[in-house]
Amino acid sequence: MGKIYIIDVTNRDGVQTAKLGLSKLAKTMINVYLNELGIFQSELGFPTTRHESNYIKANMKLQEMGVLQPIRLGGWLRATAEDVSRAFEFVPGLRHLNLSISTSSQMIHGKLRSITSEQQVIDTAMKALETARRCGAESVGINAEDASRTEIDFLVRFGLAAKAGGAARFRYCDTLGYDNPFTIYDACKRLAEEVNMPIELHCHGDLGMAVANSVAGAMGVVDGGQDAYINTTVNGVGERAGNADLVAVVLALKKSKGLARKYKLGMPVRLNVAWKLCRYASYAFKVPIPINQPGVGANAFAHASGIHADGVLKDPQNYELYDFSELGRGEPETVETGREICSGEYGGISGFRHIMGKFEVNLENRANAEDILELVRYANVEAQKPLVEDELLFIVKYPDVARELLTLAPLAGS
Ligand SMILES: [Zn+2]
Repeated sequence: MGKIYIIDVTNRDGVQTAKLGLSKLAKTMINVYLNELGIFQSELGFPTTRHESNYIKANMKLQEMGVLQPIRLGGWLRATAEDVSRAFEFVPGLRHLNLSISTSSQMIHGKLRSITSEQQVIDTAMKALETARRCGAESVGINAEDASRTEIDFLVRFGLAAKAGGAARFRYCDTLGYDNPFTIYDACKRLAEEVNMPIELHCHGDLGMAVANSVAGAMGVVDGGQDAYINTTVNGVGERAGNADLVAVVLALKKSKGLARKYKLGMPVRLNVAWKLCRYASYAFKVPIPINQPGVGANAFAHASGIHADGVLKDPQNYELYDFSELGRGEPETVETGREICSGEYGGISGFRHIMGKFEVNLENRANAEDILELVRYANVEAQKPLVEDELLFIVKYPDVARELLTLAPLAGS
């Protein structure tokens, strides 16, 4: 029986969302939390983009140090041999990749100018796959962009070619959120049966069905005899109406009527990290969590009406499907209401020592306190808002990694 895994794409689809962005330190913190949560892979960014190089290399270093283990770090790029070569030139030692190409006739004719036929789509992607494997990639996923508007027979042919070329997974992208749970179940079951390889589900929320489609697609893949890999983002951020929300997907897999009996997660997901991760992502993206967000919204466990309040007080299970503590909620949190000393790009050593003292880090006798402060200043230049406790502790603990990921050198080597 196939299992279900999560590949989170917050640091790729999430950050390519219009009007949103994350600092390199924030992307790193997301990877750290995703690892803590038990996510199979983080699609951490764009290895062909110059300003991502140091961030990706620094995160790969964290992996070697055992900090980002066992999570896998995967890069996303277009499925062309040129882009793959560039990725390995910028980030040697890259291990996991997803290569993306459009497969629908709408996009072949309406978007790709140099490619005019389905066969050319296959040839281009296979050349990219071959290049990636020659460069030493350990696992390569092949993405069919706009798969939901692509003829299924072509998707099967494309998948079979990817499998023959040594791809590890096939990504079914419902790029425009066009599928519904029934259509995606059928398509992905057939792909799993006929292509006979693990399938990724990449769903968007243009019709409000990203989570439902991801779960239904994964059920189709498992029923077709393969492992399924659901793409998620923290708080559902992503292009346009967003991607499938990580917490909602995991809650659905664990709590939905009878589902978990047959469709099982391949790795345990520690949902009690969710509250910390979602709150952090909200702060880092500067996007509030909707009050009715599953699991982590302010109202997810709030009751006012007489009948509901009475019922939940008698027995929470009357009106709650799961307990708030499962999401890591319920711990008291301190909010500063008086004098506050914050980190900032123009901060000094005295204020910095004061902040770190509150976190029980004594920098009085540390010879490198000034160096760490300098890194904190640079981190603030990028973040443009006060760093949170975990970010500051990360810099204190891993100053060399922080230095690398904060280094943006636009003119060097271009
Ligand atoms: Zn997407």
